[in-house]
Parts: sequence; structure tokens; C-alpha cells
Amino acid sequence: MAYDQDNIFAKILRGEIPCNKIYEDDYALAFHDINPQAPVHALVVPKGDYENHAAFAADASEAEILGLSRALAEVVDMLGVAKGGYRLISNTGANGGQEVPHYHIHILAGGPLGRMVTKDIA
Ligand code: 5GP
Repeated sequence: MAYDQDNIFAKILRGEIPCNKIYEDDYALAFHDINPQAPVHALVVPKGDYENHAAFAADASEAEILGLSRALAEVVDMLGVAKGGYRLISNTGANGGQEVPHYHIHILAGGPLGRMVTKDIA
């Protein structure tokens, strides 16, 4: 499926919509989630046009892949959550609950996060 240039994170990356920025480098942008699901809830997105992890893994350069991974680690450090622990989530597609079709990784932290997923899947 073609990448949707009008998705909300594409607009944030182009500076058309503001965000509460945490970190930015050549490969990634990190900002606080507008609707936090934990005391700390950040999003890390690659700068390239990738809809999900599969597209990123298939099409991103090695520098982009390394850059995103390093940016994630940097943001975890900046948020001060490494010691207490945190969770990384990347929702993909309908069953994954992905709302924004630009690859992103959630960083959730700030307290015990409970079980990873609910067991009552229909
Ligand atoms: P997904 O469900 O696609 O994995 O997660 C999308 C996330 O983006 C949600 O947690 C949602 O709260 C967040 N979000 C949606 N629109 C905006 C926005 O305009 N700004 C920010 N900072 N986060 C957003």
C-alpha cells in the first residue's frame, strides 16, 4: 500500500503540526504522545516515509535502521526510565490497533505497566 503523505506524523515531521519534541536527529524524531497511556508515553518515528516496521525493514537504509535504533536508546536515556524499566510497542495494521500509518515506536514507562496484552481477544 502507498504511504499516506497526509498522516498526522508526516505532518508533524514536515512541521505543519506542532509536537512536544523530546529529541531529533537526521534519522528520527521523538515527541510526547498527545493522549498518554502511562505516566511517560513517548513516540519515536523515523524521518523516512515508512508505514510500518515491515516497510522500514524492507526499504530503509542501514544508516536509517541504525539511526532509529540509536535514537530510541537515546530517548530512553533522556526520559530517565532505563533503570525503572519501560515497554516498547509498535502497533501494526488493524489487529495491531495502528491508528497512524507512519511507523512509530511507543515508549511507555513511569510505573508498573501490568500485563502486556489482554487475554480476552474475541
Ligand atoms: P498507534 O495506535 O497508531 O500505534 O498510535 C498512535 C498514537 O499517536 C496514539 O497513541 C495517539 O495518542 C498519538 N497521536 C495521535 N495524534 C497525535 C498528535 O497529533 N500528536 C501527538 N503527539 N500524538 C498523537
